[in-house]
Amino acid sequence: MENATFSPVSRVAICGGTHGNEMTGIYVVREMQRQEADRTGSVSITSIISNPGAVEVCRRYTETDLNRCFTKALLSSPIKDSTPYEVRRAQEINTLLGPKESQEAVDLLCDLHNTTANMGMCLIFYSLDWLPLHIYKYIQSNMTSAPVRAMLLSSPKSEAHSLDSVGKHGFSIEVGPQPNGVLRADIFNMAKEAVDLTIEWLHKFNSGSTFEEGEVEAYTVVKSVDYPRDPTTNEITAIIHPELQDNDFKLLQPGDPMFLSFSGETVKYEGEDLHPLFINECAYYEKKIAFHLAKKITVTLPSISVKKD
Ligand SMILES: [Zn+2]
Repeated sequence: MENATFSPVSRVAICGGTHGNEMTGIYVVREMQRQEADRTGSVSITSIISNPGAVEVCRRYTETDLNRCFTKALLSSPIKDSTPYEVRRAQEINTLLGPKESQEAVDLLCDLHNTTANMGMCLIFYSLDWLPLHIYKYIQSNMTSAPVRAMLLSSPKSEAHSLDSVGKHGFSIEVGPQPNGVLRADIFNMAKEAVDLTIEWLHKFNSGSTFEEGEVEAYTVVKSVDYPRDPTTNEITAIIHPELQDNDFKLLQPGDPMFLSFSGETVKYEGEDLHPLFINECAYYEKKIAFHLAKKITVTLPSISVKKD
């Protein structure tokens, strides 16, 4: 594969508290702000608490999910009295770190999240972008405390709704399991290590290192599975089966236990072999998702290096 070149990544944003009850990112950002870690070598860093209103009340959001508000359409929608707090905040962030899809946008935006699922460290990419995928490869090969995996989405940038799509390059870091509103040292250290490795990678990249071509594995979501529900009340009638709980990424095959009904019956999986992700994620109950099912793919990355003028 031909070498790919990219402009230096000199302006970086690290965001936490996009979901106000996911504590790790909030405290990583607060610590960066306390240490006034706004510049390191070739990289200037802006660290922000994305959703201060939700952080204040320790809830995922106040009116609507901020991490669904960064589409081109919502970012350019006129503000009215009825506009939710999070849409207003998305537009403020877009002014501060974007505008999205412009030359003024930060070069890299890294957004820190937690999940209640046993996902370990999972980087989420909204598109196939060689630069952040090389950062993933670097974190994966240098991090010792946990397995590092990636989930690959593929939305056109204008329709990508997540905060990380505001930067020229971007990705989210999901770390778990951690209950909402709780801080765990092991989870905090994993997120902090991933941020430090990202910045270390950027220094190397900006100073002219070439990152060799290679392969990485990633998971792409095929479908989402809802809980069994009562057809009249729509209430859930079963919970994640103990044999599935905490087994994120482990291949799910036909006949494997999937749900356990409140009356004690096991619901078995039917369908092709796939990998379950975000099993029993707290925030997905309202979205009617018990877990995602994904395919594992291999992505071949070209070698990359900084573009020289
Ligand atoms: Zn989140």
